[in-house]
Amino acid sequence: MSNIIHRNLHHTPPRAVGAHGMLVRDSEGRTYIDASGGAAVSSLGHGHPDVLAAMHRQIDRVAYAHTAFFTTEPAEELAERLVARAPAGLNQVYFVSGGSEAMETALKLARQYCVETGEARRTLFIARRQSYHGNTLGALAVGGNEWRRRDFAPLLMAVPRVAPCYEYRDRGEGQSVEQYTVGLLRELETTILETGPERVIGFCAEPVVGATGGAIPPTPGYFAGVRALCDKYKILFIADEVMCGMGRTGTMFALEQDCVAPDIVAVAKGLAGGYQPIGAVIARGSLVDQLRRGSGSFQHGHTYVGHPVAAAAALAVQQVIERDGLLEAVTARGHTLRRMLGDMFGEHPHVGDIRGRGLMMAIELVDNRASKAPFAPERKLHAAIKNQAMARGLMVYPMGGTIDGLHGDHVLLAPPFIASSADLSEIVARLAEAVDAAIAQV
Ligand code: PMP
Repeated sequence: MSNIIHRNLHHTPPRAVGAHGMLVRDSEGRTYIDASGGAAVSSLGHGHPDVLAAMHRQIDRVAYAHTAFFTTEPAEELAERLVARAPAGLNQVYFVSGGSEAMETALKLARQYCVETGEARRTLFIARRQSYHGNTLGALAVGGNEWRRRDFAPLLMAVPRVAPCYEYRDRGEGQSVEQYTVGLLRELETTILETGPERVIGFCAEPVVGATGGAIPPTPGYFAGVRALCDKYKILFIADEVMCGMGRTGTMFALEQDCVAPDIVAVAKGLAGGYQPIGAVIARGSLVDQLRRGSGSFQHGHTYVGHPVAAAAALAVQQVIERDGLLEAVTARGHTLRRMLGDMFGEHPHVGDIRGRGLMMAIELVDNRASKAPFAPERKLHAAIKNQAMARGLMVYPMGGTIDGLHGDHVLLAPPFIASSADLSEIVARLAEAVDAAIAQV
């Protein structure tokens, strides 16, 4: 038994001893294709020499400097780079160590902004039922993932909730996409009004849903409608791009494709592609100016804010993505992956939906394709798929959850941006075997 508290307390996972490009090798000599980029983290694959060299250079210079005393070159340069690529006006960056911290920071920045504008009675966030924003208590509170929240619910702040934008499950028979979208926005407006707009700090959402549903993109116009409602009621729009940001969907920010700018955006995972733990919050300058004119400080802080080696790794990852044209590659390879998934699973009796954006793609498993009835949760199909995939040397990110009382099993694919057509084809072939074996097993 390991001394580490692993997620599954009955099982110690294989020990990773080497990783290069698309492959991870374990201590038994088995290799795995990293088709999920870990948890949609690895954008450049493993062992990229340019990133390792940048990290070495920074370690030799300054391995750590606390932000109470110093700023550092890689942190400044990384912030400049993020701002240059963020929507206009989002020009203030706060670095943290990961996605949950990024969301906590976003929530606290939004709240402090309200306090400093004389709106201290704004204390509530509105969020969606199908969402994951992190595992710390504030982020867990805004997230809607029932099984993650269950034991901790008494510790969490109350969050009014609205429906997710989940066309496959929720668009009614005979309802157009436009009608469906209008209905969702009407529900959001009603919730804002019932809550009292003057009590609402902001609305939080993942532009492309990740960990609770597998790569669910919004319908056209949904986020433009969200933006308009936030403006109408003077509430902040906080976009959680921890998974879908930093190029994963083919643009730096997923919301670019919806032609929408949030007030605050949280990023992490792909920022340094897993080479170092780092996340960031990018905020509208006017929000931070308000704090600057008011109390003069942001009441927040962590020991590893702006860690120079993490910033150097992130900077190198982002430079390689730009230099090698990997955003365009994500778009092209995303189309290839979608086509391959369609060819493999388009007629599969237990694959109800194939969806996603860029290299954030998923399949949704169903017991009955016609009725869309999911597999019973106790069959734990998603867990069986993961095990069957690992046995075939394939890392995928399966998840199961209960959303609005309905259980669903999904498999998320989020391969590194460097994946070749041959890699994608091998991934889809192994996934098909794993899915069929898992269904037979449960
Ligand atoms: N937000 C989203 C959208 C995520 O996908 C995740 C991680 N799955 C988080 C927040 C939390 O990030 P972390 O695990 O780095 O704390």
